[in-house]
Amino acid sequence: MLLNFLAMAQPGKSSDTSWKKQYRETATKINDLVHTKLDAKFDFSKSYMYGQAWITLQPHFYSTDSLRLDAKGMDIHKVTIVKNGKQLPLKYDYDNWQLNIHLDKMYKGGEQYTVFIDYTSKPNEVKVRGSAAITDAKGLYFINPDGTEKDKPTEIWTQGETEANSVWLPTIDKPNQKMTDEIAMTVPGKFVTLSNGKLASQKKNSDGTRTDTWKMELPHAPYLLFMGVGDYAVIKDSYKGKEVSYYVDKEYAPVARKIFGLTPEMIAFYSRITGVDYPWIKYSQITGHDYVSGAMENTTATLHSDAAQQDARELTDGNNWELVVAHELFHQWFGDYVTTESWSNITLNESFANYSETLWNEYKYGKDAGDDQNFGDMQGYLQSNSGKKDLVRFYYNDKEDVFDAVSYNKGGRVLHMLRNYVGDSAFFKALHLYLTTNKFRSAEAQQLRLAFEEVTGKDLNWYWNQWYYGAGNPSLDIAYSYDDAAKKVQVIVNQTQVSDKIFKLPVAIDVYNGASKTRYRVWAQNKSDTFSFASPAKPDLVNFDGDKILLCTKKENKTLDEYIHQYKYAGTYLDRREAIDFASKHQDDSKAVALLKAALKDKYEGLRSLTLTRIDMKKDLVRKEVEPVLVDLAKNDPKRTVRAAAISKLGTYKKPEYASLFKAAVNDSSYTVSGDALEALSEIDSAGALAEAKRLTAKPAKGKLSSVITAVMIESGDESSAEMILKNFEMMPLSQNKFNVLQSLGEFLGKTKNTDLFKRGIDDIVTFRDAIPEAFKGQTDPYINGVLLKGLAAKKKEAGLTEQSDYVISKLPAEDKKGF
Ligand SMILES: [Zn+2]
Repeated sequence: MLLNFLAMAQPGKSSDTSWKKQYRETATKINDLVHTKLDAKFDFSKSYMYGQAWITLQPHFYSTDSLRLDAKGMDIHKVTIVKNGKQLPLKYDYDNWQLNIHLDKMYKGGEQYTVFIDYTSKPNEVKVRGSAAITDAKGLYFINPDGTEKDKPTEIWTQGETEANSVWLPTIDKPNQKMTDEIAMTVPGKFVTLSNGKLASQKKNSDGTRTDTWKMELPHAPYLLFMGVGDYAVIKDSYKGKEVSYYVDKEYAPVARKIFGLTPEMIAFYSRITGVDYPWIKYSQITGHDYVSGAMENTTATLHSDAAQQDARELTDGNNWELVVAHELFHQWFGDYVTTESWSNITLNESFANYSETLWNEYKYGKDAGDDQNFGDMQGYLQSNSGKKDLVRFYYNDKEDVFDAVSYNKGGRVLHMLRNYVGDSAFFKALHLYLTTNKFRSAEAQQLRLAFEEVTGKDLNWYWNQWYYGAGNPSLDIAYSYDDAAKKVQVIVNQTQVSDKIFKLPVAIDVYNGASKTRYRVWAQNKSDTFSFASPAKPDLVNFDGDKILLCTKKENKTLDEYIHQYKYAGTYLDRREAIDFASKHQDDSKAVALLKAALKDKYEGLRSLTLTRIDMKKDLVRKEVEPVLVDLAKNDPKRTVRAAAISKLGTYKKPEYASLFKAAVNDSSYTVSGDALEALSEIDSAGALAEAKRLTAKPAKGKLSSVITAVMIESGDESSAEMILKNFEMMPLSQNKFNVLQSLGEFLGKTKNTDLFKRGIDDIVTFRDAIPEAFKGQTDPYINGVLLKGLAAKKKEAGLTEQSDYVISKLPAEDKKGF
């Protein structure tokens, strides 16, 4: 699963800490699922599913005469056992959550039996506690079922992880179960369907419906079952003769391959590095409106948020969904083929999916791009303030809590360090062994350790105990000195993390004299370690963690000259990034500015972009030095986002001579380039910018362009544009860009005496305010209510525009109404 960043911001607040003592054991297997056959019919008017399920099971080892199934919030109509084609009724108890069935006799371990259940699933009537990943675990979602929401298609999709598929299917909803399945969906003839495995048959019914039967002939876990229904366009690719397909809203059919089209190449890549050829019969990806998470790796049928659907102009900046595609795809091996046995071990699924993003970038776009992804994910963990959580976590409040920056980001970095420690060939060979040993089964973190020990011959308990069954990360203070008399360089490494835990870290230290380096391999494993190396002269640079793989925070004691050497000769992404960081803090120093100037032309676009954000345009020295480079980047950089950022910086010079450059860029197909150019133009030629803005409203705009158009028109104060301004604002999707426009909109509304116009603007702001997810209101409401709306109310009152003032006040919450 890939988390939704909106949902991730939700803090898990609870004063009840009794969970800290509750060990979360792996679910006991009493009965094992073997096969499930489901007949599903949908009632769109009620958002109900009428289900008939034939569930085949067997006692795991010990004999039993009872069966407990998860079946959440259902109406159970009938429970029978199927014997020789006949159904015999069974007694059962149902508490609206679990179905406890009394079997007709005692069954021995391995002795198969099939129960039949006739039921109604009522997902909108199930009350389940929300979670970080999924806002509410309904399992089965009817989207716009009555078709009354304009501009939104009618869809059905399911979301199982963690234990929500038992809202629509009685099952043992635990990740350590696996089964084959067969799902028949009866839907209106105009819809297409998607489920796991292969489409085995399609049958037209006399009532205009059609029944599609999907068969999944390889076992997988219950949370990975999926159903999708809707009026999609289906675009087909292939991998070694297997179907690879993309289900998108029809308007996105022309760009579907630009969003998902790298999938076959990704399948080939992941098949090659794992040595396990893509194990399933097909691979489909489908988009879902109002999806409650980012994306979900249902076996052979990944569901993506509709945020995946970008238009052709958005895609010119790059496909922002590519790594999500990679992430969910790698789950088809890590998660679906081998599955975590418990939510405590979820990192077995998520660390690999997370790390697959680094691996893909490295393969497709080079080591810098891989290292960039790795570094960004490491920061995601370090900034998440979760240093106290174990990676494999047997104590948690809610099972959803383990879907966090520890299981994902930290887990991915732990794999990255492991790969560096054992070497590439051992790393991928161990992954192969882990996958083939545990295929179609569940596993815990120890099984991964055993695979690595088997391949490398090394004991790795220390690594697993430190990283998997422990918490935190090292904080390092690294100092360097040179003893002229002894001709020795010293590296002093102090572990300064607050906890008592001392980390054992295999580290490479590179000592540079000019371009040549000597590498020393050491173990930092004490509170303080001192390493000495012979060196005939003071080195130009001592580079600790030469491969830049450590998961840590660190304080280094290096000079600008050493960083300049590091930028030039050490050369990894992070070496260069650290040098840029250091130089950006010394922008009064001409040598630092020279480094930044060079970094604006770095071979890797990510570092060009970073440097653009770091150069301080208030400093004359910087302005003078970087100007010609900015012009070059603005005109010629192959990466559109870099061009846009350079244009934005050039705007700060306010030179009329750049007007033609900006005007040309306003017509760029990238919303970002166009938006930044329009903004830069408005700084030197407001009339010209307004004319461009009006012209650009002829076509729908998104992203940066959309917010700049609105801002430029608002700043003109031209009431004849009011209709366009408000319409533009109304059409902008909920986003940071839209939030950024609020201030200009407020200024515009502050000026107008036209009360109808004013009210409509206030309504637009209030609609926007109310649409912001609850998790963010704490940050946004104080500005929208406390500053913007209250400010407008006060201003209008002072101007004697009582009707306008009263209207704003009526939209304020009680605490903000005070004082009026
Ligand atoms: Zn995932």
